[in-house]
Amino acid sequence: MSLFVQKFGGTSVASISHIENVVRKVISARDEGHDVVVVVSAMGDETDRLVALANEVDHQHISGRREMDVLLSTGEQITISLLAMMLLKHGVKAQSYTGRQAGILTDDGHTKARILDIDTAHLKARIEEGVVPVVAGFQGTDDDGNITTLGRGGSDTTAVALAAVLDADECRIYTDVKGVFTTDPRVVEGARCLKEVTFEEMLELASLGSRVLHTRAVELASKYEVPLRVLSSFEDAPGTLITREDESMEQPIISGIAFTRDEAKLTVLGVKDVPGIASAILGPISKANIEVDMIVQNVAADQSTDFTFTVRREDYDQALEILEKVAKNIDAREVAGDNKIAKLSMVGVGMRSHAGVASRMFEVLANESINILMISTSEIKISVVVAEKYLELAARALHSAFDLSEEVS
Ligand code: ASP
Ligand code: MG
Repeated sequence: MSLFVQKFGGTSVASISHIENVVRKVISARDEGHDVVVVVSAMGDETDRLVALANEVDHQHISGRREMDVLLSTGEQITISLLAMMLLKHGVKAQSYTGRQAGILTDDGHTKARILDIDTAHLKARIEEGVVPVVAGFQGTDDDGNITTLGRGGSDTTAVALAAVLDADECRIYTDVKGVFTTDPRVVEGARCLKEVTFEEMLELASLGSRVLHTRAVELASKYEVPLRVLSSFEDAPGTLITREDESMEQPIISGIAFTRDEAKLTVLGVKDVPGIASAILGPISKANIEVDMIVQNVAADQSTDFTFTVRREDYDQALEILEKVAKNIDAREVAGDNKIAKLSMVGVGMRSHAGVASRMFEVLANESINILMISTSEIKISVVVAEKYLELAARALHSAFDLSEEVS
């Protein structure tokens, strides 16, 4: 018999009537002859509400993150019990499981823990008996039995991890959008729901700003080759299948355009062109736990050069403060910054076998008079940094120039 893991996100379980809809999805998968394991998120904005409560009590986070996890894990616990009750009412043998009861062991990294192992013996036995386990997403326990959570959006990861260890035939992520789109449909009208996308592309899209799936979930799915499908809870459509690259398939050159506004750039001007400068600049930044994304250092024309990098916008002020000090120490001329920038990336495995994608991209942006501030490329993506105000224009122009509205046959 085949086994499906069905995961329902917050908007899909936002109310009792939403949960009734979930019951229908579970029953119809069973009617089609599949065994089912269900994973759920907290109802609606419950996790945000809990975070806000915690902030009210201790906005400086003096209490540490252990108690935060005890609090956050309650959201999913509400959903599993309600859903299990409703399944039972409809005559489906179901049973709720907290992370710990489902055997999910994590490290002790509170609020961003990673799953280490899942003891499936119990779940497997129950599935054999025809029971539908309803598992709380986003949580587990560490070695000492402390409750942990996996980071915001972590229920996707729970679902994929369970699908991997249970050797499920498919992990279905039900959400409030139709699937994975070529780009954000709120920004580009012609954005199209993709039928298929490769793990590799999805990984890039997820980490470059597409919010459909938790990045960690895609990583796991790719590592264990769990076929992953993103689909809507509210309509009957196949959604998007995320899968291994199929050699025989004709790949589109570009699969999607992802973007994020969450960016800022900093430049140290007039630094000496000597060994140790990059480390002198970025060392203190990384010590402050600030993540650096793109880095550019120019070739020195005389004896000095400029050094530019990007960070998350929320880290901008702190990074600037650190750099002012660093600049003095290394005798740089000055520090400049800009926190009104955005990063836009085109992703596609077809890029590997097609030259000229980058130059075409730059030409399209030039035709719109959009200035490119930074560029970075890898095998299957090209990212540019532009002023935030041009982001939407850039996304639309590229989407249309690369014909992303059209299905590739
Ligand atoms: N409830 C958690 C969150 O809102 C986990 C999840 O929904 O995936 O981030
Ligand atoms: Mg989610």
